[in-house]
Amino acid sequence: TSTFLLAAGLLLAEIVLFYAMFSAILKQKRLTDIQKDFANNITHELKTPLSSVKVMFKSLERKEVLENQVHLGQLLQSLKRQYEKIQAITDSVLESAMVTEFQPELCRCDISQHLREYASDLRLEKHLLEAIIEPISQELRTNLAVLDKALNNLIDNAIKYSPESLKITFKAYAQHDFYIIKIIDLGPGIPITEQHSVFDKFYRVPERNKHTVKGLGLGLYISKQAVQQLGGSLTLFSKEGGGCTFTIKLPINEN
Ligand code: ADP
Repeated sequence: TSTFLLAAGLLLAEIVLFYAMFSAILKQKRLTDIQKDFANNITHELKTPLSSVKVMFKSLERKEVLENQVHLGQLLQSLKRQYEKIQAITDSVLESAMVTEFQPELCRCDISQHLREYASDLRLEKHLLEAIIEPISQELRTNLAVLDKALNNLIDNAIKYSPESLKITFKAYAQHDFYIIKIIDLGPGIPITEQHSVFDKFYRVPERNKHTVKGLGLGLYISKQAVQQLGGSLTLFSKEGGGCTFTIKLPINEN
């Protein structure tokens, strides 16, 4: 019981702290339309986990719940899952603020081996994954943790935006002085008029917001900044209705 109450207390403290931080940030800035959208989106994103947490706290006031070890265990697991959801949201907000602040340390690494492991760790529940990772003869100077940050958002989007059972392709190969990584989905694609804006902070394609897909408009911004921190580029090719191809191009330096 005491572990449970401690975990619950910590979670509550973190939520209160994040809300205080978030409202302080909003107070300081005049809200532009995009920021207003962001405020709506984050409220929407936090609403479900927060109301679940509230219901769980309420049930903790009941003596029979506190005395039932099995029930308490289940409650702790649910609380943990909601905590992880809230943490993922706060992490992406903080990451978007920090991604340009530090120059990542680059080191020589076997990128194709890393990507093979990355792809084999991906467990897609509702999509097919095709991974074609070609080796390169040289080692590449990069930062794999920063690269993963970029990849995670691109893969998450491919999963989020494309209908179930469609294929997601994850390809990597060397071409001239570059190592190219492509993430290709067969979802709705992005209209040509929106393609430049989708990399902006907080931007979401307007019609999509009416859809059920949740998001804060930070994923592509974080991915692009992360790849640029590695000296590379992130570009998009898409036709409306014809899926998206995101391409990461990393320079291969000989020395
Ligand atoms: P989020 O997904 O949280 O909204 P992102 O910055 O990752 O934020 O993406 C910005 C917008 O670009 C999304 O709101 C969506 O409209 C569009 N988008 C991104 N990836 C895809 C994709 N693979 N297929 C279709 N639309 C996408």
